Amino acid sequence: MNQSLDNKTLKQMDRDHYLHPFSNLTEMKETGSRIIERAEGVYLYDSEGTKTLDGFAGLWCVNIGYGRDELADVAAEQMKQLPYYNSFFGTTNPPAAELAALIKDVTPEGFNHVFFTGSGSESNDTVVRMVRRYWQCQEQPSKKYIIGRHNAYHGSTIAGASLGGMGYMHKQDEGLPMQFVDHIEQPYWFAEGGDLSPEEFGLQRAQKLEEKILELGAENVAAFIGEPLQGAGGVIIPPSTYWPEIQRICNQYDILLVSDEVICGFGRTGQWFGCQHFGYTPDLMSVAKGMTSGYLPMGGVIVGDKVANVLVEKGGDFNHGFTYSGHPASAAVAVANIKIIRDEELVEKAANDTGKYFREQLATFADHPVVGEVRSIGLVAAIELCANKETREFFPNQGDTGSLCRNFALQNGLVLRATADTMLFSPPLTISREEIDELIAITKQSLDFVAEHYG
Ligand code: PLP
Repeated sequence: MNQSLDNKTLKQMDRDHYLHPFSNLTEMKETGSRIIERAEGVYLYDSEGTKTLDGFAGLWCVNIGYGRDELADVAAEQMKQLPYYNSFFGTTNPPAAELAALIKDVTPEGFNHVFFTGSGSESNDTVVRMVRRYWQCQEQPSKKYIIGRHNAYHGSTIAGASLGGMGYMHKQDEGLPMQFVDHIEQPYWFAEGGDLSPEEFGLQRAQKLEEKILELGAENVAAFIGEPLQGAGGVIIPPSTYWPEIQRICNQYDILLVSDEVICGFGRTGQWFGCQHFGYTPDLMSVAKGMTSGYLPMGGVIVGDKVANVLVEKGGDFNHGFTYSGHPASAAVAVANIKIIRDEELVEKAANDTGKYFREQLATFADHPVVGEVRSIGLVAAIELCANKETREFFPNQGDTGSLCRNFALQNGLVLRATADTMLFSPPLTISREEIDELIAITKQSLDFVAEHYG
């Protein structure tokens, strides 16, 4: 920590020179930033000395909680030993090789290879390059289209933003989505399910994939990409009928299935990977975030045997990679982090122990007057704020109630995120029962506050 600069100076430097991601750059010139100075366990401490419970694990990523010296120690040791070397041109480094094997140990059967990247966005860019190369090797180069979903988030690079279905991102760039990317409707029953049961709706939305494949021609479609549950879109948990039907369609039309596990991977859903929770078998998985618990940047594409064998046996050169692919310090941190998740049984805890307690406590809000639905898996959840729970009608000026609720929670010591009027929860997997009680108490106050204004 730089002690030589006081907070006032730092805030001014930030305001004058720092263009922040996903922020209103105009407003920030007025409002400035809150400075987070340190963190421990599930708590953040800002420069005003305020302590806040981080109900969002940073940005869905700090799975093992803050302040784990083990990770700082391995990073420091690795930086002294070998701070950097590339993995291009037939070179590796010890932590990257160990990490590749460790990932194999925690992934479902049939995943024996990984390609390292620096972030989730780079992982999804890699997916695009890799699936097209795969079909080229299979002598089906016309298979180029990748089908994603409206309201999905797959990152911010040109490919990531294209695969994603965020209208507010596409609106700011006429080049988005890029060529050979198309989208189908999402399985968001609460907002779009109408009179259908969740199961009927899930099936209907999965069949949109079949319609799109037939429209584009299966001979032109390389892959379908989806998050097991849509995180940034609003923790949208698909009905039970959805993924089995998607799997059937991908198999039938010979389309690769890509699971974007950037949020769900490494324990968030109470399984190592989200696809295991929903019972489908992808061909590729993109990962990042929980892979290092955010302590250093790193991502990857975990490649199933069907694709890896073709790339290895027929592909020869794969002309793709990043300076920081397999970065030694990030890889060392990822190894230590995955061992903590494994040895402290955090995946099991998210499923059956503290995760179960968290889900039970949150479920008690289902009857709250401003709550339309509570949904949760493992240690990730959403509360839908709505005006009428029978008709699932949202409040007018969507986003206002969500912001009100989020801001109240923050002022009272809890970080939550709001996507429109959906309140999102994703605390560290290490959160204790007492900390869950605190999270629940502040959430209740926040919902009551919304009810006072809108009830
Ligand atoms: N994919 C999903 C599902 C994500 O939630 C995110 C980030 O939130 C990304 C990809 C992009 O990851 P990154 O921000 O590391 O590029």
